[in-house]
Amino acid sequence: MLPLILASAALLVPPLAAPLPALVPAAAVAVAGAARGAPGWVPPVDPPVLVAPFDPPAHDWLPGHRGVDLAAGSGTPVRAAGAGTVVWAGPLAGRGVVVVEHDDGLRTTYEPVDAVVVEGEQVAAGHLLGTVGDGDVHCGHVPRCLHWGLRRGRDYLDPWRLLHPGRAVLLPP
Ligand SMILES: [Zn+2]
Repeated sequence: MLPLILASAALLVPPLAAPLPALVPAAAVAVAGAARGAPGWVPPVDPPVLVAPFDPPAHDWLPGHRGVDLAAGSGTPVRAAGAGTVVWAGPLAGRGVVVVEHDDGLRTTYEPVDAVVVEGEQVAAGHLLGTVGDGDVHCGHVPRCLHWGLRRGRDYLDPWRLLHPGRAVLLPP
């Protein structure tokens, strides 16, 4: 069964500049399945303009980009990418952060955000979480962005893939 899963995942992966990892972890395939099976994912800002892609480090202790940056000016409405429960809404390391836990064990993170939701609040996909705030960001050539993250447990995944179902989600090697 496992070779079949890996083979089908490989077929779904678009051509990439970098060589594919030798092994696609089962969890990564599961995320892709969840994305396909749950069409309720929506972009946190509209329209979603990717200004910095997911670039996970080779090892946990190395620097990297553990999420994606979406172009968004200060005050831009930020919406929950999927239905879930707000598990954090407040300052974290000098910026406003909102974390939403979803039913399938995934967590999405949004920063910097001036939150209008509170911890424990149930949200639907598209529910207003707050607006892009003025906290520390790393947007490169654009004046402001939303950093959007996706985690399952301790693993960082590529949230951009939630908006492009049908492609495999690759975990950091
Ligand atoms: Zn970022």
